[in-house]
Amino acid sequence: MKLITLGTGAGNPSMTRNNSASYLETAHGGYLIDAGAPAAASMIRKGIDFNDLRAVFITHLHEDHFGGLSGILNNRMRPSVRESPKWRGFWPEIWLPTEEAVSVFRQLMNLEHFGDDDDQILYRVIRPGLFYDDGYLKVRAVPNRHCRRMGKILPSYCFVLEAEGKKLVCTGDLAHDVTDFPVEDAADADLVLCELTHFHPDAGMSYFRRIHPGKLVFNHVAESYEKLFSEFSGELEYPAAVARDGDEFEF
Ligand SMILES: [Zn+2]
Ligand SMILES: [Zn+2]
Repeated sequence: MKLITLGTGAGNPSMTRNNSASYLETAHGGYLIDAGAPAAASMIRKGIDFNDLRAVFITHLHEDHFGGLSGILNNRMRPSVRESPKWRGFWPEIWLPTEEAVSVFRQLMNLEHFGDDDDQILYRVIRPGLFYDDGYLKVRAVPNRHCRRMGKILPSYCFVLEAEGKKLVCTGDLAHDVTDFPVEDAADADLVLCELTHFHPDAGMSYFRRIHPGKLVFNHVAESYEKLFSEFSGELEYPAAVARDGDEFEF
């Protein structure tokens, strides 16, 4: 399997980093984990065919994680998709953290496509625990505490993805105290994709030392913390890297 980090920026895009979006490529199709802008353009530039896209999983409802989703949906709603010789016979499932988000995206796409081809997008709502299993890939949602508003914790998830005998953990965005880092799941993962913006690496190290993944890759990268990477990563007993846009990680 291969993970392609399409967008690796923190909240705002920078000169070199777009918003959060990663593509998991398997023998049976591809899956998008977050769809920050410009996810559709990034897929095209990496030569990824929209026909291969089986599902999109959005970790939480901050714009830097879903701002490119309408572009993805637009590409999949074109009637020409079905007539393409590359048509694989399935429409992608779009997994969102809340019912409200499903309603908003449905309205947005109706506005653009007048309700035509509405059946070509299969909206779903993520629930904690195992929520996706297409026979090739299983995805589990582990709630974190990244999204807070007026004392309430809103839906936001780490994802644990398993396929082809391999395990990938994507942290999504985490809480500032990083106490919601998914230690148990990351401990033996083949690849951990962890954000590097909402907590100081020193705080993260107390968790990174407790895991032993095949590789730890950072995305959602704050420039100030990227500068510290060479210092703190030297203390890890396994490979680690800071992802750039367009990087590919085989595992
Ligand atoms: Zn973010
Ligand atoms: Zn966020």
